[in-house]
Amino acid sequence: MKKLDLLYVGKAKKVYKTDDPKLCIFEYKDDATAFNGQKKGSFEGKGIINNQMANFIFKLLEKDGVKTHLVEELSPRETLVKRVDIIPLEVIVRNVAAGSFSKRYGVEEGREFVSPTLEFSYKNDELGDPLINDYQAIALGVATREDIEKISEIAFKVNESLKKIFLNIGIKLVDFKIELGRTLDGEIVLADEISPDTCRLWDKETNKKLDKDRFRLDLGEFGDVYNEVWKRLTEFYK
Ligand code: UDP
Repeated sequence: MKKLDLLYVGKAKKVYKTDDPKLCIFEYKDDATAFNGQKKGSFEGKGIINNQMANFIFKLLEKDGVKTHLVEELSPRETLVKRVDIIPLEVIVRNVAAGSFSKRYGVEEGREFVSPTLEFSYKNDELGDPLINDYQAIALGVATREDIEKISEIAFKVNESLKKIFLNIGIKLVDFKIELGRTLDGEIVLADEISPDTCRLWDKETNKKLDKDRFRLDLGEFGDVYNEVWKRLTEFYK
């Protein structure tokens, strides 16, 4: 597989074309950003951990019947994935109040919900990824009603699987963001990444934050907690 031109440079990874139009290559960087790119940071080896962790999680989800873009890990930082058209929605599922939800609705962090929530943000950096509802997304031609139903089904399925995966390693899944893409064959699959960059993960016993909030909120131990989650995952799923 030949790595060809750069297709896209994201905040935490680069995407390259390959000699197969149906495939591309992700290359994870050590960079971290928060607050729509205004805060920047990194730690050595972050790209390696996130690449490996995202692939590890995607494989576990595949076993649970979730279709993903994953093809093959090529190197510590690189992964071959199916080329997809990303649906420009950030799909967020929450089990416990935190972050923007707590702020917006005045709900104390840590309150467990009666049932999971689902929300969409319109992926647009200039606008700061504003919230969008299903009718608005359909009106804009971002997705059809059928797409929204499929996306919601995938999001809740991922939540159920992910909750179990993390509970097995003593971690509460507070919330997470996923992105979905349409393959060239028209199938909607899980794309982008799932990692401590895209989830809120709290230690089940102590509620210690084991995710990107350590960077967002300057709590320290940014790299340490990513290593901790990766260690717990690999030790449990040996
Ligand atoms: N999230 C993400 N990318 C974004 C926005 C949110 O991965 O651009 C994740 C975030 O890490 C958290 C969940 O989605 O796990 C919910 O985030 P929230 O809406 O509370 O926004 P935040 O407080 O992070 O701004």
